Amino acid sequence: MTLKLVLATHNQHKVEEFQRILGASMPNLEIVAYDGPQPVENGISFAENALIKARAAAAHTGLVALADDSGICVDVLGGAPGIFSARWAGTHGDGGANLRLLLDQLSDIAEEHRGAHFTAAIALADPSGSEAVVEGIWPGRVALEPRGEHGFGYDPIFLPDGHGVSAAELTPAAKDAESHRARAFERLIPVLRSLEPAADGD
Ligand code: IMP
Repeated sequence: MTLKLVLATHNQHKVEEFQRILGASMPNLEIVAYDGPQPVENGISFAENALIKARAAAAHTGLVALADDSGICVDVLGGAPGIFSARWAGTHGDGGANLRLLLDQLSDIAEEHRGAHFTAAIALADPSGSEAVVEGIWPGRVALEPRGEHGFGYDPIFLPDGHGVSAAELTPAAKDAESHRARAFERLIPVLRSLEPAADGD
């Protein structure tokens, strides 16, 4: 039996990413895009913002809903940009300006003090009110200058631990295998499995 979930995003690429990654472990999963009203994301953590989006989608559609929220957290900035990652330079979604501002802010900071991590929170909300949130963290540091052509957002200036290359120099498959989102997906699978309807005869 199919488990149908709505993903609280208007971004079709994100729907395809969720379907591809989660569908690999759960072939009976169907993820549909959400086209309802988007709530104000006024939470103060990734988890809260993901929950706000998942709750709104569950209430509007009557389906079990998923939502994610993510960003980069820099140690020397006390965890910023954090939940403000997408609009750090002022305009929502201007990845180039966000990255340049962050590099400028860290221009005097030596390599050993440039620790950072990406965080991804994925929330699940059931229309009946039950909720869950999982998180994945990808540790690394901020590079001195952008490198690489893959990925998006802060990838060209993020050096994940254990590689010596930026996240934008990893192949998409290599990034998919170990990113903050991959780590959150890993934790989400058991939660989704617990929602699967039992097959007839079990
Ligand atoms: P959202 O969760 O889609 O709102 O993304 C928040 C912001 O965090 C994005 O606009 C990017 O700036 C940043 N971000 C989140 N995940 C990544 C990633 O995997 N690579 C680079 N930037 C990311």
